[in-house]
Amino acid sequence: MTAIRLDGRKLAQKKQEELTHLVKTFFNDNGLLPQLVVVLIGNDSASHVYVNNKEKMAQAIGMASRVIRLDETVSQEVVLQTITQLNNDDTVHGILVQLPLPQHIDEQAVLTAIDAKKDVDGFHPYNVGQFVLGNDAPVACTPSGIMDLFSHYQIDLSGKLVVVIGRSNIVGKPMALLLQQADATVIMAHSKTSQLKELTKLADIVVVAIGRGHFIDETFIKEGAIVVDVGMNRDDNGRLIGDVHPNVLEKASFMTPVPGGVGPMTIITLMKQTLEQAKKQVENA
Ligand code: NAP
Repeated sequence: MTAIRLDGRKLAQKKQEELTHLVKTFFNDNGLLPQLVVVLIGNDSASHVYVNNKEKMAQAIGMASRVIRLDETVSQEVVLQTITQLNNDDTVHGILVQLPLPQHIDEQAVLTAIDAKKDVDGFHPYNVGQFVLGNDAPVACTPSGIMDLFSHYQIDLSGKLVVVIGRSNIVGKPMALLLQQADATVIMAHSKTSQLKELTKLADIVVVAIGRGHFIDETFIKEGAIVVDVGMNRDDNGRLIGDVHPNVLEKASFMTPVPGGVGPMTIITLMKQTLEQAKKQVENA
């Protein structure tokens, strides 16, 4: 069996066209553009690449976007002041603080300082709470984009056994909850999980978000399973590789490539959530 590619790049392009149209409509209806502001702190090279990609996509769909670059040594007070200014600026509809932050900055304090109405990442505690309760709220972009991939490829999740490997706040936890809300039976695995292979071999679907290049190989996967590879790692030659070994392609029925799978869906979901937040802010003004 050779897996069918869950082509995130292609689906994201389709969604990009739809969003471009919706942004134009928003402008025609309201006389203003949705604006996303990204706050980038420090010199993490991967973060710089991600932020550039987000800015380019916002521009490509016709949104207003801005990046505020702060020095690695910036104080927490200045970061919080910056966020307060953005919260008070009516022309700003989405605020994203790029993670990870330098060690001296309290991540939860920063994420909580963002006005929940301008949170486009779904990381604000209020929005996390609403999501856990099953209410309408922005949800972390990576798992939300993966759900769009499942939906586009008409992958029925109801009753499926899914193993999510990784339990971070930005991928694993929200992923597991979204899958459970879609009636899947979910096992969350992590670095302390014993007998990981025995669990994954039972799974109809495996979502891998651990950050270890090619860690999951075909011996972890049941014949015909669906495999989603969230990982973004660099090999010795600097090439971008996933957490899943390419030999899984021969065993899985569907699989996301890296690059071109989950990554593009994450960015397009961010754009969608910025537009949604802008619409809500205009409606409630
Ligand atoms: P993270 O915060 O470092 O979390 C990694 C998780 O993997 C942790 O829960 C950890 O368990 C678990 N883990 C590590 N080694 C393991 C092992 N050997 N067996 C089982 N579980 C293991 O990472 P993250 O932010 O979730 O990101 C994960 C990967 O996805 C990274 O490569 C990241 O670059 C990528 N990513 C991609 C996108 C995208 O758009 N494509 C978006 C976000 C992240 P413990 O909790 O026990 O430590």
